Amino acid sequence: MIDSLYSSYMSANLAAGSRKTIMNFESHKLLTPASGASLATPITVAYGDGIGPEIMQATLRILEAAGARIAPETVDIGEKVYLGGNSAGIEDSAWESLRRTKVFLKAPITTPSGGGYKSLNVTVRKTLGLYANVRPCVSYAPFVDTLHPKMDLVIVRENEEDLYAGIEHRQTDEVFQCLKLITRPGCEKIVRYAFEYAKNNGRKKVTCMIKDNIMKMTDGLFYQVFEEIGAQYPEITRDRFIIDIGAAKLATKPEMFDVIVTPNLYGDIISDIAAEMTGSVGLAGSANIGEHVAMFEAIHGSAPDIAGKDMANPSGLLLGAVMMLVHIGQHAVASKIHNAWLATLEAGIQTADLAHGKQLKTVGTAAFADEVIARLGQMPKQFKPVAYAASKAAKATSAATPLYTRAQPLKKALVGVDIFLHARPISPAYLATMLQSPTAALAEVKLQMITNRGVKVWPNGFDETFCTDHWRCRFVATNTEGTITQRDIVSLLSALTEAGLDVIKTENLCTFDGERGFALGQGQ
Ligand code: NAD
Repeated sequence: MIDSLYSSYMSANLAAGSRKTIMNFESHKLLTPASGASLATPITVAYGDGIGPEIMQATLRILEAAGARIAPETVDIGEKVYLGGNSAGIEDSAWESLRRTKVFLKAPITTPSGGGYKSLNVTVRKTLGLYANVRPCVSYAPFVDTLHPKMDLVIVRENEEDLYAGIEHRQTDEVFQCLKLITRPGCEKIVRYAFEYAKNNGRKKVTCMIKDNIMKMTDGLFYQVFEEIGAQYPEITRDRFIIDIGAAKLATKPEMFDVIVTPNLYGDIISDIAAEMTGSVGLAGSANIGEHVAMFEAIHGSAPDIAGKDMANPSGLLLGAVMMLVHIGQHAVASKIHNAWLATLEAGIQTADLAHGKQLKTVGTAAFADEVIARLGQMPKQFKPVAYAASKAAKATSAATPLYTRAQPLKKALVGVDIFLHARPISPAYLATMLQSPTAALAEVKLQMITNRGVKVWPNGFDETFCTDHWRCRFVATNTEGTITQRDIVSLLSALTEAGLDVIKTENLCTFDGERGFALGQGQ
């Protein structure tokens, strides 16, 4: 069955050239021989580029042989779509399929270089709200060479926020800005997911990795939410590391970690380091989980250097597919495949990327799939057998984590404003005079400080501080209530622009339920 899906996919694509192709295999319901009558779960499948078609075919053959009850629905994404003029690499028909099936098994794709092509992965993750990237990183020593034989951890990376919001601006000749956005809903969802994952997968500890000694508000919020939600899981140990020392410990003592939860950028970096440490990029699968849709894939790319050579390791995509089976509740099939795969590794059967000169049996992609199929029903003898549990399986996915509910609005008070100026580097004292004279008539606000790249340079700045052409000028309330109005900000902006100053942006200074909602200047 899968072979016929694959050959129709390949021949249709060859015939179609760059034409948009979507094939609907809904009519091909795959039924378990045992259950017979139970309906298959529709899933959207993309064969991808490079080695994608080879490893997808191998993966789907194993799933079929194991009795997975899935109905693959094939869509085109990636290089062909990009080169057909769609800069997102995904067409409306593929979106339609994804939104209907809500489960996406995706082979790697090639992003053409240059030309303004958007990352398809980022587009899919953000459009469908796939907030959690889950990447198990496990060593398979002695069957796969690794410096870290005891590594068995899962990285839960926040997937939508942080510096990946893509909000960037050039503000002056010298200064470029990228906004780091961390939200309470984003933190709550990812942290809840991490603890649920730990609880339902027999994990004992969740470690939070952040840089809240520097980013006290953004990373501080992430850690605060980690403490709040973690307290609801008393059976799970909580731990924290500043990301720099945490990454160093991960690289040298990975056995210290169980589940790691971390914001987007740190997670991006440490999850690649951790995957590499296990021995091969060809080994790891990952899940991208949202409240409505989930996407499963290998962590590696399309490996154009070995495409079409029957050399690629299908294990990463296969383990991604195992996570998908757990997600759709087919835990017994997931366990059966995972155990057969472990037994195959134990038998010394490997693809070329893992061979490292050992006296093992090196096989191609298709033959590796045959070896796994031949071991379906067997248990590994040295590795601990895998047993995904029915009751726990669904809970380990977002399906069981409650939809986000908003808290009541807080009492917000406007207490000042930061006005950012573009001005050639000048003496901060002189700049203060330039700000104070046109605003002297405004009784409601006063200049409190000036910073440059966050460091206070007025009042009482140091001559040694290097200044750029980007100044943050903080004005605060003068009245006893300590508040200003939006109208005061408008008057301030009018006075400054009429005086010829180049205002590039403003940030309101607010308190929320009396709590300061802005950072102090460094040195303030
Ligand atoms: P890559 O992961 O494709 O390849 C890196 C190296 O690892 C290559 O030597 C390759 O042969 C090897 N390799 C990767 N997967 C393997 C496997 N399953 N079996 C054996 N060896 C394997 O990374 P790259 O070369 O930087 O990227 C190639 C293309 O893939 C680029 O267009 C990139 O944009 C894309 N990419 C896609 C995804 C995705 O779709 N999720 C992820 C990363 C990169």
